[in-house]
Amino acid sequence: MPESTNRSGADSNGPTEVVGETASLDFIRKIVAEDVASKKNDGRVITRFPPEPNGYLHIGHAKSICLNFGIAAEHGGMCNMRFDDTNPAKEEVEYVEAIKKDVEWLGFDWTDRLCFASDYFDQLYEYAVQLINAGKAYVDSLDAEEIRTYRGTLQEAGRNSPHRTRSTSENLLLFEKMRAGEFEDGSHVLRAKIDMASGNINMRDPTIYRIRRTSHHRTKDRWCIYPMYDFTHALSDSIEGITHSLCTLEFEDHRPLYDWILDESTVPCHPQQIEFARLNLTYTVLSKRQLLQLVQDQHVTGWDDPRLPTISGMRRRGYPAAAIRVFCDRIGLAKRENVIDIAALEHAVREDLNRHSPRVMGVLHPLKVVIENFPEDQVDEVDVINNPEDATAGTRKVPFSRELYIERDDFHSDPPKKFFRLAPGREVRLRCAYFIKCVGVVRDPKTDEVTELRCTYDPATRGGSSPDGRKVKATLHWVSVAHAVEAEVRLYDRLFLDEHPGENRDFLESLNPDSLKVIRSCQVEPSLKKAQSGSRYQFERLGYFCVDIDSTNNRIVFNRTVLLRDTWAKVQRSMQAKR
Ligand code: ATP
Ligand code: MG
Repeated sequence: MPESTNRSGADSNGPTEVVGETASLDFIRKIVAEDVASKKNDGRVITRFPPEPNGYLHIGHAKSICLNFGIAAEHGGMCNMRFDDTNPAKEEVEYVEAIKKDVEWLGFDWTDRLCFASDYFDQLYEYAVQLINAGKAYVDSLDAEEIRTYRGTLQEAGRNSPHRTRSTSENLLLFEKMRAGEFEDGSHVLRAKIDMASGNINMRDPTIYRIRRTSHHRTKDRWCIYPMYDFTHALSDSIEGITHSLCTLEFEDHRPLYDWILDESTVPCHPQQIEFARLNLTYTVLSKRQLLQLVQDQHVTGWDDPRLPTISGMRRRGYPAAAIRVFCDRIGLAKRENVIDIAALEHAVREDLNRHSPRVMGVLHPLKVVIENFPEDQVDEVDVINNPEDATAGTRKVPFSRELYIERDDFHSDPPKKFFRLAPGREVRLRCAYFIKCVGVVRDPKTDEVTELRCTYDPATRGGSSPDGRKVKATLHWVSVAHAVEAEVRLYDRLFLDEHPGENRDFLESLNPDSLKVIRSCQVEPSLKKAQSGSRYQFERLGYFCVDIDSTNNRIVFNRTVLLRDTWAKVQRSMQAKR
């Protein structure tokens, strides 16, 4: 399995370069630290996070957010929140709002630096005119197919368009008419005049403006021509005074174009573009196109479906923002593509939840237990520790009564060898309460299914230990029938069965048909009655759960966030063995 590199940016199995104080920094932080030290950009650090509002953010974006906001903060700099909204056909206000919410929830603050590329449309138009005047851009009237053909291939140089030699005045006039809406969509484009024979296809006279009669979510119908991504991005960076423009590896081949645009225009500054490897995770997809397809084709319930790697999905699932930040920091930055094991993310989530979430008792598959020697109308309030990891969390009272629920699979009428939990004639501990012994089993006469257990309790074992030193081999969680709150619990499994969905077959073919199981009649302890949506708990012995937004006053719904069991240590061992 390919693996991540550490924060130094060096391969984890290769030597780590040591450069004085910056030795522990990743390769981007090193560059920035050196720039600050040498007073480049007067020592300022201004970064930006530039999402296109054409979908919801995912864990890969979280990596970019942590990096851009993180580096700026480390140097007392600033990070702009910039929407790269140049393609109105795919962009929506819903996405803008969702993205803002997600970045804030992750814990980052862009203060007053909320920017939109669409706010620069006038300036960008002027820059385009400037290029035309300098003989560096021309209006081409080939259609899309012809432009493709003329562009050539990786092996073959492209050919000049017959319109490449248009005079400046003709280009100015045509461009003006493009803007005025005098031409059909697709009939003309504005292209940078660079080099049709360049070994880098991005430099073969890339299109910088196209006609598109689509209403924009901000500028409405003011424009019918829209600037292309590369042109917009480089100039927006410069307009905003960005010092370090951090982007993912697929833009490495675009860097010469980024630099060309800034070199050929009269711009306030020339930011430095630096590329890093995008985050890939096993058992999931991090492509907006694929995520959109999952949502649109209803393979999931929406962008915030807890099975998705979207930030809103992870939030709903119960992942703490702090755990996502820790994960993004831990995986570090690499210069080459790699895939991170999703167990590493789950490990970070579990670590955080273990420290911070209160313990409660809930029974997913209830089996009724009647304590025959417990008085019918008596209720014992037993003390239960809220969080053994947090001394300040204290204890709570949990009602114990004659009738209880335990987990159905904590009982076996004919226990196999290694089954130590409840069985006929056997004694176990009920967590923080008493020892109980099974003295009878009630079955459905028709199906023979166990419907109830008859037990006795030992009043001397209150608190869960026996004064005579008697030992039991299992401790079970339980809920008092009379006090229990019924709940719905949603159990999630991986959305995909393949480690690398889409690698050997269409990604949809590897969708896990059992990625969601709903259990409707779970019974949880009464302290959860008023649990707020979004609050997180450890259900003793079962895992971490989070109250879902679907909960109502009458019905509480829990999402299982993660299991208690941590597979990450095992994954790390196998990685070491492979090395
Ligand atoms: P597309 O451009 O195909 O719509 P995208 O995932 O690149 O999708 P953007 O909105 O352009 O989406 O991304 C915003 C920022 O997040 C960009 O700077 C991009 O490089 C970064 N980013 C996107 N995906 C990842 C990833 N998997 N890992 C790290 N950074 C990412
Ligand atoms: Mg992108």
